[in-house]
Parts: sequence; structure tokens; C-alpha cells
Amino acid sequence: MTNPSCCSSPSWPRPAESALNARTKAMAYIFVMTEMRRCRWCRAALEPSHGRGRPRQFCSQRCRQWDWVARQRADELELSEGELVIARGELDRLHDDLYVLSCAVADIEHDLSEDPDPSELRELLEWLLSAARPLRERNMGASG
Ligand SMILES: [Zn+2]
Repeated sequence: MTNPSCCSSPSWPRPAESALNARTKAMAYIFVMTEMRRCRWCRAALEPSHGRGRPRQFCSQRCRQWDWVARQRADELELSEGELVIARGELDRLHDDLYVLSCAVADIEHDLSEDPDPSELRELLEWLLSAARPLRERNMGASG
């Protein structure tokens, strides 16, 4: 991925107005996601609650039950609020997914420094997405 005519100025096309707008929207989305209330068990974003009453804490009855079971077990084991028991296999799979993602980030950062053309950029993006997707599709501890 080297470009022989890259010495004077970057050859990347300037982002179009619409691309900048899409980026701004994506940033706003990330902001909303972090400000949004999340399920106490699976961390899924919760619909904003309208009207009175306590705000929802769980996305589903199943998550409410898993949280209750986890709290019972934590009491039995005398765990503090900051301690957690997780199945080794689940933690290993999470570490594997994070490792794949961190390798993809490192490789893509390197490839981006070599002035990729638009089709290469698309390949890099697809690679990053394929490395990130398993984390998005992960549903820890609520599979039963
Ligand atoms: Zn949930």
C-alpha cells in the first residue's frame, strides 16, 4: 500500500460535506449512547421512559431475573458490590475477542499510515467491523 506520489501532499480526497455530516451524526449517536440509561444486567440501551414512576432498570424480565439471581449468589458468597464471579470460559472468550480487535486496530493503524486508496480503506473498514462484530453480538450471561 505505497503511493509513489505521496511525498508532497496527501492524496486522499477531502471528505464530502455529506461524509462530514455522517461523522457528526455518528459522534452525536455515541454521545447519546453514553448518556442513555442502560439495562443493569446486559447494558443494552433502554428506551427513555415517559411519564411518572421509577425509570426502568432492565430491558426485559429475563435480565431482571438474571440480576436477581446474581445478587443472591453474591450475597451467598459475601461478595462486595465491586466483585464479580464470571465463568472462566466466558472471560476467555471475551479476552479472545478483545485480542482480535486490538490486533485489527494495530494493523489498520499501520496500514492507514501508508496512504491507502478508497478501495483499500473499504477493506480496512470491513476488517475492523468483522473484528468488532463479535463484541457487539456478545450477550454475556443472559443466554440461559
Ligand atoms: Zn437487559
